[in-house]
Amino acid sequence: MERILLHKPKMSGFEMDFISAALSEDWAVPLGPDVSAFEGELKCFLKNPSKEVAAVNSGTAAMHLALLALGVKPGDEVICQSFTFCASCNPAVYIGAKPVFVDSESETWNMDPQLLEEAILDRCNKTGRKPTVIIPVALYGMPYKWKEIKEVADRFDIPVVEDAAESLGSSYNGNMLGTLGNYGVLSFNGNKMITASGGGAVVCPDTASKEKVLRYAMQARENYPWYQHVEIGYNYRLSNISACIGRGQMKVVEDYIRHHKAIHDLYDEIFSDLYKSKYSEVKVHDNPSSLFNSNYWLTTITFDREMDVEAIRQRMWNAGIETRHLWKPMHLQPVYKDSPKYVNGVSESLFNRGLCLPSGPHVTEDNVRFVCETLWKILETL
Ligand SMILES: *Cc1c(COP(=O)(O)O)cnc(C)c1O
Repeated sequence: MERILLHKPKMSGFEMDFISAALSEDWAVPLGPDVSAFEGELKCFLKNPSKEVAAVNSGTAAMHLALLALGVKPGDEVICQSFTFCASCNPAVYIGAKPVFVDSESETWNMDPQLLEEAILDRCNKTGRKPTVIIPVALYGMPYKWKEIKEVADRFDIPVVEDAAESLGSSYNGNMLGTLGNYGVLSFNGNKMITASGGGAVVCPDTASKEKVLRYAMQARENYPWYQHVEIGYNYRLSNISACIGRGQMKVVEDYIRHHKAIHDLYDEIFSDLYKSKYSEVKVHDNPSSLFNSNYWLTTITFDREMDVEAIRQRMWNAGIETRHLWKPMHLQPVYKDSPKYVNGVSESLFNRGLCLPSGPHVTEDNVRFVCETLWKILETL
């Protein structure tokens, strides 16, 4: 029996055509026509013509570049969502800035706007300076409470970098995530909505900022006939061959998003039937209102009380199913133990009660039914 994986990438079949065409013209370089074409396709997908897209070699690099473009300096404080993957906050540390962690609210599981305001006021009091950037994360594809976060950001005049790495194609009030903030970060890692076998993009507010981002992504080379540098840069540009894979995936991105939503809805249907019966403990994470439109990159569930999630994960694995813990909050990570934090217990509780279920493009309806049946059987014996 083949194991049902959380999120295995799936080729559209068009990737090879783009790669063959590129190789036949010797475009095996980090800068090439497919990188520009991929950027154009992403820009079109985001449906906001005022934005410019810079494709780079990872989502982590995209976050680093967005912070550099906003002028984040050593010693600055950067407000990060605690409930996230480390790529949201590590780039602040690369710069020598200090992450300040803010907990989540329980509806979207993303940055709590009220706690965000408290955190900013407290940082101003304690340090005499306001934080330089706010980084909300749309976890598992679920949009943050953008209106409320934007209100706080505007009141204190702090720019926002959206971590939309998991939320390609998600929208808030009809607008694509990644286009709402000053900058947006996308990821094309192997397990994301689409893959470029590793890659990312910075969604920039205009052409000048895209140029600034790309300059940092290309060793901060100045415009001279020789190699002239007045600043430190990085080698973050996307390979043309990776862009070919990304372009092949863009052919099916809408289908993949539809698939993820259908898989989520089927889990929802099966678990809500159970919810009415005896397994009241399982709840699928859903859009809290029609303002929110998650791509449901991963379907996630929570139990209504703390469970031995690790034991459930292991038994699911033994039954041929890969599941995963929810993200362990950054304020509970040893590496960030000394960082300032503003917590309400929400992300810690989610970590102790939640599980990610197989949701990728290979997952079939029969797989979903098998995952649910297997989980019930395990829950029955706990
Ligand atoms: C995947 C991911 C990133 C970017 O990761 P890369 O692997 O560097 O592309 C950033 N933030 C979150 C929340 C992610 O899940």
